[in-house]
Amino acid sequence: MYDFNYKRASSVDDATASVAEADEGKFVAGGMTLLPTLKQRLAQPSDLVDLADLGDLVGITVNDSTVTIGAMTPHAVVNASADVQKAIPALAKLAGLIGDPMVRNRGTIGGSISNNDPAADYPSAVVGLGATVHTNKREIAGDDFFVGLFETALEEDELVTKVVFPVPDKAAYMKFPNPASRYAIVGTFVSQGPQGTRVAVTGAGSHVFRQSDMEAALEANFASEAVENIKQDDSDLNTDIHASAEYRAHLVTIMAKRAVAEANG
Ligand SMILES: Cc1cc2nc3c(=O)[nH]c(=O)nc-3n(C[C@H](O)[C@H](O)[C@H](O)COP(=O)(O)OP(=O)(O)OC[C@H]3O[C@@H](n4cnc5c(N)ncnc54)[C@H](O)[C@@H]3O)c2cc1C
Repeated sequence: MYDFNYKRASSVDDATASVAEADEGKFVAGGMTLLPTLKQRLAQPSDLVDLADLGDLVGITVNDSTVTIGAMTPHAVVNASADVQKAIPALAKLAGLIGDPMVRNRGTIGGSISNNDPAADYPSAVVGLGATVHTNKREIAGDDFFVGLFETALEEDELVTKVVFPVPDKAAYMKFPNPASRYAIVGTFVSQGPQGTRVAVTGAGSHVFRQSDMEAALEANFASEAVENIKQDDSDLNTDIHASAEYRAHLVTIMAKRAVAEANG
């Protein structure tokens, strides 16, 4: 680990100003990704600005049409929320599939989507439900938020404050997890509701993407038979020690089929 300055922010304005003023400032949320990265000397920020005291960024609000989750809300809280379980059970389930109990108790939704790991689970829900990401500066449509490998639409000193998920008519998430980390080798989130029919795939490519052939088929017939013969093109998919691009493409279809079956009850 390299030396850095450490500060606990007292407000959103204090946090964003501190990062803006630093040579290379970084927010720390749960630290589940950032701290291992620092320990391995893969990053050398000049300043860490801790969001731990920003209680306003923790919490869940549910009404008839939306579920709003504060950026600093840990995955375990989303998973255990009776309100989320009732409004968007697929979202509560997804949060419970992330990592292990320690990761779920420390890791936050804001940290997860800002980090944009290609195998992270939450990006598939943000895109798969057509959510909106709120920051200290603006509102960003989920479809525009994830722009590349570990890359988002956020500016350096821009802080995610909350994510607003529209309540769907039906939704489900299925993932084929890496047996060690639980990260998604492939995860597929499907939904039908106010944001149309959506199929969002994580783990397979450089970042989450929508599977438009499956969306069109499900728009006509929201049944698992509608997607079971749709093949995912593997030319842009990831190959690594865990799975080939060809295998990931196969899993996209299988996970989509299972997700639709679950969404239909
Ligand atoms: C062993 C292990 C297993 C895991 N398994 C999974 C898994 O199965 N599925 C999965 O999805 N994830 C998994 N994760 C990741 C984990 O779920 C966390 O969500 C992730 O590490 C980031 O969240 P965090 O709150 O810890 O963020 P941090 O590590 O604190 O920060 C991550 C990045 O986001 C930035 N950031 C943090 N908060 C904000 C904000 N509000 N606004 C703007 N930028 C911000 C930070 O500056 C940093 O660049 C795993 C992690 C570990 C260590």
